[in-house]
Amino acid sequence: MSYFPIIKILGIEYTIIERQPFHIEDYDMGMSDSIRNEIIIRAGMNQDTKESTILHEVIHILSDKMGLSLEENTINCLESGLYSVGYRLKEKL
Ligand SMILES: [Zn+2]
Repeated sequence: MSYFPIIKILGIEYTIIERQPFHIEDYDMGMSDSIRNEIIIRAGMNQDTKESTILHEVIHILSDKMGLSLEENTINCLESGLYSVGYRLKEKL
C-alpha cells in the first residue's frame, strides 16, 4: 500500500487506495468516498479485478455527480460491458 495513483473524474482528483476491507456491508471489492475523494479497493486482488472494480467505482461517482441515480445492477452491467470492450487504466497499479 505504498503507491497511490490519482484518477481525475469530472475534474476532481480521486486517490486510489488499496487496503484490507472494513467490516461494513457495501465494502465487497471497493467503495468510493466523495468527501475524501478516494476510491478504496480491496487489497490483494489480481490486476483485472482491480481495474474492473475501479471502473465500477468510477461509474458510481459519475452517477452521483451527474444525477443519474443508476442502480447497482445497472452499474454492474456497465462495468462488465465497458471492461469487455477494453477499458483499462492508463497505468498499472
Ligand atoms: Zn457498486
